[in-house]
Amino acid sequence: MSIMSIAQTITELKAALPGKSWTQDTDKTAPFLSEWRGRWHGETPLLLLPTTTNEVATAVKICARYKTPITVQGGNTGLVGGQIPQGEILLSTVGLNKIRETDKANMQMICEAGVTLQAAQTAADNMGLKFPLSLASEGSCSIGGNLATNAGGVHVVKYGTARALTFGVEAVLADGSVFAGLTSLHKDNTGIDLSQVLIGAEGTLGIITAASLKLLPKPKEIIRAMAAVESPEQALTLLSHVRSGDLLSMFELIPRLGLEYVTDNMAGHKDPFLAPHPWYVLVEWEFYKRQASHTGGENPQDFAENILAQAIDSGLVQDAVIASSQAQSTALLALRENLSAAQKFVGAMIKHDISVPIAKVPDFITRANAAVLKYVKNCRPLPFGHLGDGNIHYNIGQPQNMTAAEFMALEPQINDIVYDIVDGLGGSISAEHGIGILKKSQLARRANPAKLQMMRRIKSVMDPDNILNPRVLL
Ligand SMILES: Cc1cc2nc3c(=O)[nH]c(=O)nc-3n(C[C@H](O)[C@H](O)[C@H](O)COP(=O)(O)OP(=O)(O)OC[C@H]3O[C@@H](n4cnc5c(N)ncnc54)[C@H](O)[C@@H]3O)c2cc1C
Repeated sequence: MSIMSIAQTITELKAALPGKSWTQDTDKTAPFLSEWRGRWHGETPLLLLPTTTNEVATAVKICARYKTPITVQGGNTGLVGGQIPQGEILLSTVGLNKIRETDKANMQMICEAGVTLQAAQTAADNMGLKFPLSLASEGSCSIGGNLATNAGGVHVVKYGTARALTFGVEAVLADGSVFAGLTSLHKDNTGIDLSQVLIGAEGTLGIITAASLKLLPKPKEIIRAMAAVESPEQALTLLSHVRSGDLLSMFELIPRLGLEYVTDNMAGHKDPFLAPHPWYVLVEWEFYKRQASHTGGENPQDFAENILAQAIDSGLVQDAVIASSQAQSTALLALRENLSAAQKFVGAMIKHDISVPIAKVPDFITRANAAVLKYVKNCRPLPFGHLGDGNIHYNIGQPQNMTAAEFMALEPQINDIVYDIVDGLGGSISAEHGIGILKKSQLARRANPAKLQMMRRIKSVMDPDNILNPRVLL
């Protein structure tokens, strides 16, 4: 792409869009050019801030004419670098922030792409319903970003990933045309579901401008508890014990080291137990009126006490605390949600977001710990996360006798060690964060060749000039 054509694209974009929908002011663009962990820093000649789908379509048409690449950004909380431009035009969806429609009868809501996940949750709550997607980044991440990455989070064990919570999307395709997929149909078998093709494509096939989201009944009561266990094996056995039909809505594994990172480094957090334990599980159940029979007629608090008392009696659980107020419930969740933030205080971390079949999680942790400790003596493995759906964040902290730079230089070899184990167990090298820039080479080496070839073909048909997120995924 020539410098002339970039200059021409910028001139035409500035002329076609309202003044408030673009900026080249470096103070205004700065926050969009680095991300949460400070791992990626970027640059852009022009930041677009469209406020309507029409403006997005106009912008993409101009870029398509000159084959000028665009990077798309939602809430900028992505963890694999895809949202940070390296010289491309940057299109942020923050201005697409309207909730267009709410429909209680159809249990549906249409949100524009830039609506934050938290705003979508609140809107559903105001309707007396629930949008169950829940991530620690929900105050900042956007619905468009959630769908582009097919986000997971703490409720997947009950509700599935973002894909399962979507009727359809509206998106601007690479030629500037608008795919109008905002269906409210619960059933529609008229061929390939293009919305589902766009979901999880990380912005490489189209720019999602709005989404028709599925809402669920709001639970009458939520109970959270934390159980102390000896090992991931015990945690896995506990999972079957506490499932209780469809009441279980969260099952998160936390190692002692992770709990200490949060309580030692972040104000306002306390270990809920009197004595230390090697592992913890955060459990949440949701109760609806109609499900009183599931609990044998007990009230939810008694249900939680009974089920955990049985687990203690059988030696499965060493100790347990049950939240008895909203404040205690929030404090238990905060211990899990701050695990990522707390790691910022403890030196360099090499991070993996993997999944294996649920029954193989303990085996994965045992094998990965042994292998990385053999490779880097005294490194600090920190496996935590969504045991209920088989997704473990397998992070490894730098040993005290190494500098951050020395440790991070080993990242490629450590990644291979961890991903070889994941592959051997039939797992995935990216359970919920996506591929972005970070895992491109691993995907190219490890993905099924037929899958990779088909993904490349789909990309070349839907974006023949490779202008949408050109450095991402493939
Ligand atoms: C503290 C913390 C906790 C997290 N916890 C979780 C978790 O539990 N589960 C989980 O899945 N993720 C988690 N994440 C990662 C991140 O929040 C998710 O990936 C989220 O879905 C990204 O949304 P975003 O709006 O910030 O997207 P961005 O970071 O802006 O973009 C992410 C990717 O999507 C593309 N994109 C963004 N918007 C659009 C659009 N409208 N159309 C097309 N492409 C688009 C971008 O180009 C980029 O490739 C966490 C992140 C943080 C910082």
